Amino acid sequence: MTMIDVQIAIIGAGFSGLGAAIKLKQNGFDDFMVIDRGSDFGGTWRDNTYPGAACDVPSHLYSYSFAHNPEWSRSYSHQPEIHRYINDVAERHAVRSHTRFQTEVEHAEWHEDERRWILDVVRDGQREQVRAQIMIGAIGPLCEPNLPDIDGFDDFQGTIVHSARWDDDVDFTGKRVAVIGTGASAIQLVPELAKVAGRLDVYQRTAPWIVPRTERAYSATEKWAFAKVPGYQSAVRGAIYAMNEVTAFGLTYSPKSLKPVELVCRANIARSIRDPELRTKATPTFQVGCKRILRSNEWYPAIARPNVDLVTDGIASITENGIADKNGTVRDADVIVVATGFHVTDSPVFDKIVGAAGRSLANVWDEIGMQGYKGSFVNGFPNMMLMVGPSTGLGHTSMVYMIESQLNYLVDYLKTVRAQGITRTDVTLEAQQRYNAEVQHDLRNSVWVNGGCASWYKDHHGNITTLWPGFTFNFRRITRQFDIAAYDVERRGTRTRPAESADAQPAPATA
Ligand code: NAP
Repeated sequence: MTMIDVQIAIIGAGFSGLGAAIKLKQNGFDDFMVIDRGSDFGGTWRDNTYPGAACDVPSHLYSYSFAHNPEWSRSYSHQPEIHRYINDVAERHAVRSHTRFQTEVEHAEWHEDERRWILDVVRDGQREQVRAQIMIGAIGPLCEPNLPDIDGFDDFQGTIVHSARWDDDVDFTGKRVAVIGTGASAIQLVPELAKVAGRLDVYQRTAPWIVPRTERAYSATEKWAFAKVPGYQSAVRGAIYAMNEVTAFGLTYSPKSLKPVELVCRANIARSIRDPELRTKATPTFQVGCKRILRSNEWYPAIARPNVDLVTDGIASITENGIADKNGTVRDADVIVVATGFHVTDSPVFDKIVGAAGRSLANVWDEIGMQGYKGSFVNGFPNMMLMVGPSTGLGHTSMVYMIESQLNYLVDYLKTVRAQGITRTDVTLEAQQRYNAEVQHDLRNSVWVNGGCASWYKDHHGNITTLWPGFTFNFRRITRQFDIAAYDVERRGTRTRPAESADAQPAPATA
């Protein structure tokens, strides 16, 4: 078996893995390898190729601050353009030579004796071992498709497609199509499928709140200005950022102040749907913001089309030929599109990562909920930094901003390790518990806790462990510097690790 030794292994070549690779290079850390199971950069933006896939954060903010793109064609970009952008940035920063594509990490385990992460990977059917002093888990929360727990999937004789694993060979023209789900992915793909399908049944469990999408193409003059007028693009970026942060206040501290957003959503429904029954079905019953606020001008017109039915009776089972609802009606389908999201707090990847006490992330998080320190480190998993880890997700602005905050933390961590000859770093249980208690305290009045909805933002303990509470500039502030006091560290030639960091019992979750 081939063994490869590197200082740093980065798992994942999406926005965060690529960002980490670039920052490492820029700061003189050249001994690293990026590992990704796909065939190019982009992560979720490579894998989500369903028709209509697009971003609902404006392009000028949904991009790296160190790689502005004056060429964005539209105010909100579509998946192919974002995917292209990520690969262009990778090319410009020459990180491809550090990257192993089509390489799947099957298992990653911390080996205490060697002070190494050992990654068992499979590449072209060949097993290899990568040994790294530091592992960066840039695996992304939205990468493992979630198949709903509905009886009968195996019986279905037609075609099943998940939104996150699109199959371009499936022809929807004139077909009877069923879509399960009405989340961010479904509201983008349904309008496209509705144009070509013979019949389209959309199975809605919970109606989403949807604001209009103010998307438009940029003119040649605007693109020229973005490229040539000093500070213009940064100013636009800053303005988008500032406007979005206002929403953060409402989501976290004052859900009542989101009432105007709800009115905009209600007007969107009233304007687009005439049938009172359909209007009622399409109107959510939870507080706006509790689930992600979606953006679309096309969803309501699509579900109002004569070839589309919004089914709200609930799914009883999948049959050989279609879907049976809870009223006993069976609707035939040639293709079922499953737009039911991702395993976020219960990702199967967590089983593959095993820390110091021989326990997997899945074991640990099953017990305490998805907790970490500053979204980056988890007690008992030495020398492992997660990108977009616990409590870093957002409902209101660009994840790239959060990723770049973590990149600051990562670089300062690595510089500290280098300067001080550190061989082992483990966040203390005390620091992690204190941090999570603060996060949960900050969330107590939020719409995510009190808005009357079920969402993937909550883990199985009922805690919101995916979202960052409040303003993103606060996360930027706390990740500016690596705060070594929160860690048990061991330096070259010493073994000073206190016993409790790997072995102590974690505090239970507090829902
Ligand atoms: P999602 O938001 O989790 O939506 C899943 C949908 O499937 C929901 O409508 C859910 O209903 C439904 N569902 C799940 N299990 C079901 C079942 N057993 N029976 C019936 N319906 C079921 O997933 P997503 O739409 O793929 O989006 C996931 C995340 O990806 C988003 O929140 C967002 O962060 C990101 N995303 C972003 C963009 C963008 O524009 N930036 C685009 C796409 C996705 P319930 O609501 O009742 O659970």
